[in-house]
Amino acid sequence: MMKHGKRAAIIGAGLGGIAVALRLAARGWAVDVYEQNHAPGGKMNRWTTNGFRFDTGPSLITMPHIFEELFQAADLRLADYLELQQMVGLTDYHFDDGARFSHSSQLPDWLSTVRRLEEGDDTGFLNFMALGARLFKVSEAAFFRKPPFGRPKLADLRNMRDLPLRFGWGNYNRTICHFFRSPYLRRMFNRYATYVGSSPYHAPATLTVIPYIEQAFGGWHVGGGLYRLVEVLCEQAAQFGVEFHTDCRVEAITQHAGRATGVALAHGPAIEADAVIMNGDASMAPVLLGRDGAVPLAERDRSLSGLVFLYALKRSLPDQPHHQVFFSADYRTEFQQLFAERRFPDDPTVYVNMPSRSDRSMVPGEGEVLFIMANAPASDRDTWDEPMIENARQRVLARLRKSGFPEFESQVAAATVWTPKRIAHQYGMPGGAIYGQASHGWRGAFLRPPNKDRHTAGLYYVGGSTHPGGGTPTVLMSAEITSKLILDYEMA
Ligand SMILES: Cc1cc2nc3c(=O)[nH]c(=O)nc-3n(C[C@H](O)[C@H](O)[C@H](O)COP(=O)(O)OP(=O)(O)OC[C@H]3O[C@@H](n4cnc5c(N)ncnc54)[C@H](O)[C@@H]3O)c2cc1C
Repeated sequence: MMKHGKRAAIIGAGLGGIAVALRLAARGWAVDVYEQNHAPGGKMNRWTTNGFRFDTGPSLITMPHIFEELFQAADLRLADYLELQQMVGLTDYHFDDGARFSHSSQLPDWLSTVRRLEEGDDTGFLNFMALGARLFKVSEAAFFRKPPFGRPKLADLRNMRDLPLRFGWGNYNRTICHFFRSPYLRRMFNRYATYVGSSPYHAPATLTVIPYIEQAFGGWHVGGGLYRLVEVLCEQAAQFGVEFHTDCRVEAITQHAGRATGVALAHGPAIEADAVIMNGDASMAPVLLGRDGAVPLAERDRSLSGLVFLYALKRSLPDQPHHQVFFSADYRTEFQQLFAERRFPDDPTVYVNMPSRSDRSMVPGEGEVLFIMANAPASDRDTWDEPMIENARQRVLARLRKSGFPEFESQVAAATVWTPKRIAHQYGMPGGAIYGQASHGWRGAFLRPPNKDRHTAGLYYVGGSTHPGGGTPTVLMSAEITSKLILDYEMA
């Protein structure tokens, strides 16, 4: 590997920061990563207690080829380090009226389920997938993989808008309603907008590429838990000389004559670098630069946060699948409360993830790791003190009980809770917004903060709050784009 004396300072060891570190180090850069927390990973975090292993953030990945490409960029093979397990049964869905069905990744099974739910919706589903395939092709070329010049080229965005996709451009929910008549399928497909922390009633229809991606590329678990990905990437990055400095908060980005020159740490000397890469929330960079009037992302623009309860259970629940969703009675009201009223819903939709159902290495022997999540607003006003948590917990449990989820509280060996406030504080995300700005309207979805700063040379961005957006595969695409920009601009 050729060493050329170039040095990068990365602010944050989230997935995007680690991926850029590996990519640059494999191209001969000296890389230092500064992470304010005790361990790397950012929102891709873990909690271990008495042999129970929890992923506290992502619970499912898709597009495994994007993860493989990252390893290939460093001349490595993902399969030599990680075991990816494809989920045959993706998710079981439960509804307020007692209806339930399983979403299978196997097309014949899934089509017969769709037909059973609503005669004719199987044709709707195939047409919907055809739309998704076309959207995916266009997005790959114009959006996902493209190093934007400052921001995505407007001409490319216009090309996307002008495509002859009758329902590809417009409102997300309206497009879903066009392809499906079953209220259950409408609800199920509407939920995919929340994969990027957004409302199906405000997101653009182009986000229908998300359900296409899950069906086409599958949903995958990482053997031993998703945090294994962080561990392996950090180990391999260290082999290339990357230095991870944990418990190390960056207080400022230093600059001279319109160029970022390095970072100043809360404790320790100033660090000089040829490129500074912000992996924390992009809206915090102007604050670190000391720009006049800089404020973190405004509340009205934020994506959803989440309320997550983690329970280590002493007994196994063998009848339960790995992923389940328990829908609220009224989805529109739920989103009205989340985004317009900005409060935790009276009747939340609840996502239950039990990776120990597919992977017994997550538990010490008997038992389960139980991850329960509900969407929550990314609001600065919510206190998330004990009474507020207890109140929300009762609403979550009420939904589970109503939908027939087994009683588990007498089996709890250990528990913890992640509130929006804890997410905000731990990861430096305004209000705990998991995906940066909400993907509402096409500007919100497509004009995200660019990967290269418009005013300060040598300053770059990577991660879910920047282009092309949140979610683990998209963050890795962001890392690819950002690394290319750095190599183009800083090594010319
Ligand atoms: C509960 C939950 C569930 C999720 N589920 C899924 C899922 O199923 N599938 C999926 O694909 N994605 C999921 N996600 C989203 C996914 O975790 C994120 O999109 C991705 O991990 C974000 O990576 P990132 O590179 O943006 O970095 P982040 O994870 O945002 O990390 C940024 C890092 O920068 C550090 N930092 C910030 N400021 C400073 C500073 N000044 N000095 C030093 N360090 C700093 C922070 O501490 C943090 O570690 C979920 C997230 C959460 C929270």
